[in-house]
Amino acid sequence: MSRDKEKDATEDYRVLDVRALHRAGVLVPGWLGSWQWTRRGAVVATIGIEAESRDRVRLRYQVTVRGERQAKDYPVPVTWTPCHLGGERPWFLCPYCGRRVAKLYLQSVFACRHCLRLNYASQQQSKGDRCWSRFWAARSSLNMDEDLKLLPAKHIPKPKGMHWKTYDKKVAKIERLELIACRSSMVFIQKAERQLEKALALLGR
Ligand SMILES: [Zn+2]
Repeated sequence: MSRDKEKDATEDYRVLDVRALHRAGVLVPGWLGSWQWTRRGAVVATIGIEAESRDRVRLRYQVTVRGERQAKDYPVPVTWTPCHLGGERPWFLCPYCGRRVAKLYLQSVFACRHCLRLNYASQQQSKGDRCWSRFWAARSSLNMDEDLKLLPAKHIPKPKGMHWKTYDKKVAKIERLELIACRSSMVFIQKAERQLEKALALLGR
């Protein structure tokens, strides 16, 4: 198997752009064929596409996931919106979150960048990191001001137009998340310390 084929679809994302499919006439009901990605003139990946209807394409392809070859076959919804200058333009609906998007990216399945980034981020993050990112997300939902970033939650001023009830809820949530995040960081630090102790013991110190 060539190096390019080995790399398959799982390593770098293949992008499926619904507008490119539309331009190529792929979205016409009954269309059946293949879609290819090329690099320097050589085909590096191919998938089968079937336009089952105006609102649905079926994708068929194979991917290698952790060394195991898998056959994929599933539908992706397509939706149409009117253009300013007349006519309609197509969108994919992400098979995972239902977001309307122009592009889907292939990891082992096609999904929108939001879904894949979330996946990617949560795979890369430790539990403690995830707690902290939830904490920061909750904090930014209350106030994005950099200067206020280090203030305890209850000292963040209520944004104009926000109901007190909403504000109180958000503050409570931030405080809860901060507690969880601190605790998980403590667990992480304790674990690291224990590992260090063990390593030192092995070294006879
Ligand atoms: Zn999605």
